[in-house]
Parts: sequence; structure tokens; C-alpha cells
Amino acid sequence: MGTEVITIDGPTSSGKNSVGFLLAKKLGYQYIDSGSIYRAGCIFILRKKLHLDNIAGLVKVYKNLAIEVKAYDHIQRFFANGEDVTEILHSQDVTKIVSQVSAIREVREATKVIQRSLTKDKNMIMTGRDIGSEIFPDAKYEFFLTAATEIRAKRRFDQLHQKDSSVKYEEVLSSMIERDKRDSTREVSPLRIPEGAVVIDNSNLTVEQTVDEMLKHINA
Ligand code: C5P
Repeated sequence: MGTEVITIDGPTSSGKNSVGFLLAKKLGYQYIDSGSIYRAGCIFILRKKLHLDNIAGLVKVYKNLAIEVKAYDHIQRFFANGEDVTEILHSQDVTKIVSQVSAIREVREATKVIQRSLTKDKNMIMTGRDIGSEIFPDAKYEFFLTAATEIRAKRRFDQLHQKDSSVKYEEVLSSMIERDKRDSTREVSPLRIPEGAVVIDNSNLTVEQTVDEMLKHINA
């Protein structure tokens, strides 16, 4: 019997992570955010001070990247090459380069190998930009989450503001618009709604309500 994968794609701050985590808990699945895999590679790219034009160097980082996720009751910890990188995955430095790095075809191919191997022996919920369209096009349940841009920017602003009170909403909004644009217009695996995916706009829904909506489709 093969393992099952549920895919959740959507733009930044569309609630994928909170929703994916809660849905996984309810179904007893493992949850993996594929954005964190791209981000983890960027941590090593920055440490090695690799130039972003050094494609072979960047690809090597992803080919050698060992990812492990450990789930606890309320949180999960993300390990890259044996190191717990959970707290630095979303640092500004990483966020600044990740969409440029993830637009490289060979980086995506190396990441695909990691994504596939993670689902080999566990039922999995994976979130990202191209999970239903490219990585697991045959998944039984495919979802696409979205919300109004201003609402997504406010969510991200609230998260960042807790850690750094100098963060400005306008800056968060403009960098989000830029990243959305780069993710949806890039040549390789652009963000798009997978064929047959259930689209949920959660602008006015809580995480719980969004998960309930998904469970309705899964149990139907
Ligand atoms: O979801 P998150 O914002 O952490 O993703 C970081 C970046 O990784 C995205 O802006 C996108 O460029 C890239 N990404 C991707 N494909 C995925 C997941 C993330 O290209 N499946």
C-alpha cells in the first residue's frame, strides 16, 4: 500500500503553514513545508558566501541537503544536515534570496528528490507553490489557499512585528507583492492553481474554519 499525499499550494502568508500543521494533526499525517527546504538551502548558501550566479555551487548545496522534521505536540522542529534551523528559516537574509534561488531549474530538481524521498514511508501533507502541479500531480487531494494581498501582508507584518518593532507594514506589503510576482511569473514551476484543486479563499476564515472546509472535501 502506498502512502498518501495531500498538497496545499498558495502564495506567501495564505495560511498554508498553520492550516497544513493543524490538518496534519487531525488526520495523523506528517506535515512538511517545502518552502522550508528551499529556505534551509539558503542558510548554507549564505554561510558559504556563495554568489547567486554560482549555479553549480548552489545546486550542490541542495544535492547534499539532508532534511528531517521532528513533530511534537504543538510545534515541529526542522533539521538541515543534522542542525535545528527552525528559528533561522524565516530570517530576513534568507527571505531576501530564497525566491531567486528557488527559480533555478536545477535547484528545483534537487529539491524534488528531497520532497519525494520524504513521502516514501509516511502519509504526508506538503505545502508550497508547485506541490499539486509539479511534485505530486496525482495526489488524491489538492488544495489551493489564497487570501487578499492586504490581508496576507497584515498577517506577515503581525508575525514579524512581534520580533522586531521597527518593521513597517508598507515595506512588508511591497516585498510581498514583489515575491508573489516573482513566484508567479518565473519560467520554472510558477505558482499556479493545480488542475482540479479545491480553491479556498480564507481572507475571512480562521485557521480552524479553513481546516474544517478542507475536511469537508476530504470526507465527502
Ligand atoms: O512559503 P515560503 O514563503 O516559506 O517560501 C519561500 C520561497 O520558496 C517562496 O517565495 C518561493 O520562491 C519558494 N518556494 C517555491 N516552491 C515551493 C515552495 C517555496 O518556489 N514549493
